[in-house]
Amino acid sequence: MIDLANLEKKFTARYNTRPRIFRAPGRVNLIGEHTDYNDGFVLPAALDFATYAACALREDRRVRVATLTLDREFEFSLDDPPDADFPAWTKYVQGIALILERSGYPLKGADILIDSNVPIGSGLSSSAALEVSIGSAFAGLNGHKVVGMELAKIGQSAEHEFAGVRSGIMDQFAAVFGKAGHALFLDCRSLEYEAVPVGEAKFIICNTKVKHDLAESEYNKRRSQCEEAAAFFGRPSLRDVSPADLDTRSADLPTLLLKRARHVVTENERVVAAVKALRSGDLSAFGNLMNGSHNSLRDDFEVSCRELDIMVEIARRQPGVLGARMTGGGFGGCTINLVEAAHHKDFVDRIFSEYPAETGIEPEIYRCEIADGAEEIV
Ligand code: ADP
Ligand code: MG
Repeated sequence: MIDLANLEKKFTARYNTRPRIFRAPGRVNLIGEHTDYNDGFVLPAALDFATYAACALREDRRVRVATLTLDREFEFSLDDPPDADFPAWTKYVQGIALILERSGYPLKGADILIDSNVPIGSGLSSSAALEVSIGSAFAGLNGHKVVGMELAKIGQSAEHEFAGVRSGIMDQFAAVFGKAGHALFLDCRSLEYEAVPVGEAKFIICNTKVKHDLAESEYNKRRSQCEEAAAFFGRPSLRDVSPADLDTRSADLPTLLLKRARHVVTENERVVAAVKALRSGDLSAFGNLMNGSHNSLRDDFEVSCRELDIMVEIARRQPGVLGARMTGGGFGGCTINLVEAAHHKDFVDRIFSEYPAETGIEPEIYRCEIADGAEEIV
């Protein structure tokens, strides 16, 4: 846990005033990978890992921001241009501020101190946690009510325009709408969602501790391939392609596009089935769907990597494991595992011994506690 009293103390020592503190969580996606930007279904949950933005309003247009996580600080003006040559991590902060102002929410400057226990660059969406906590902070300090889907969309725009990743809405959505003990079944087209209790299901997250450089370029490439495949079917997106469409026209579609489309079409079906399984408490069915998701991401969408596959294979060999899959965009990051509670300790021990033996890398392992979405800490 982040020590909030300590964060407050450090803020006061640095800026000589007392802060307000806004929190936004990281997230894990239980199932429904690479479906969000295809107008499909996802099932994320907010984590009890979160990013905290301690902050105070200034009377000018300066923003002083520091991050304890990266041990960096930076200062800029709200009037600086969007393409300024800023350090990468500050672009999220500047991006959120510029997008808020552009959306009709004038801002004053701020002093900000960030702390976080969301693992960075591991597919648990530290970027969305940063965007949403900073968005809440700027809005809150300036007396603007920017909440719900509007807040999520501002975070997503910052990700697109300032981080250069054309991500879907899932990460920011989960950071905003998270609910303790619940997964969020989101229709990324209508943006309607339902919170589904996870009940007895207990998940464990394993971090491979690798992130291959191709993650971002391949992500944007997959998006284009999905658009191309949807165009082939004459549909607005792959959400509108059925398994029957795939069967009838598979011979005419180039193999690569067929594989990409098949992942998205079958993954959407798996999410719907997984929600049904969760509701009826059928955890072994849920686990099988997780396994199917991983295999499809590995073989058809081709966004897994050696370390993710090894982590999943080790997990699947262990007693009490109902399902294991990569989670997040791929090419590294984390796996998520549905493990019967009685086997948790053995599972963790075995991953800690077998993964380094096969890869030479020490993993990190987190128990997945499902928490609430963004809020001001009082
Ligand atoms: P992920 O969202 O999977 O963790 P990303 O590559 O999308 O990985 O986002 C990570 C980037 O977000 C970091 O490299 C950094 O620029 C920024 N970031 C995230 N959390 C923080 C933080 N606590 N302090 C400063 N920058 C952060
Ligand atoms: Mg991210």
